[in-house]
Amino acid sequence: MKDCLFCKIIAGEIPSSRVFEDEDCYAFRDISPMAPTHVLVVPKTHVESMAHVDEMSSAALAACLRACRTVAEMEGVAESGYRVVSNCGPDACQSVKHLHFHVLGGKQLSEKMD
Ligand code: AMP
Repeated sequence: MKDCLFCKIIAGEIPSSRVFEDEDCYAFRDISPMAPTHVLVVPKTHVESMAHVDEMSSAALAACLRACRTVAEMEGVAESGYRVVSNCGPDACQSVKHLHFHVLGGKQLSEKMD
């Protein structure tokens, strides 16, 4: 989608640090990491947020979740543990309106989820 930051990253128009990619999703390092591992997994087809997942195929959505697991394994945090977060809408402080999953790990994460 025109003017979408993550669509531009997927298209290679804006540089990113790629971690993983398959036909459905793209994973890259967050520019402002909140943990030693902080990777964003995004669907290659533009979908605004979790509220819009009905616009995706079930296969593409599943591919994104599998990519989160793959990223955790590649980053070496699968055994110690990691968190997958998707912010949806203003109360969750979603700042980029292209569905994305934060994969966070590499340290003891807070019990607090807010
Ligand atoms: P959210 O606040 O859940 O919408 O997450 C958006 C995330 O995108 C934030 O964690 C930002 O640090 C990250 N971000 C913004 N611009 C870039 C960029 N150019 N490359 C990588 N990550 C980015």
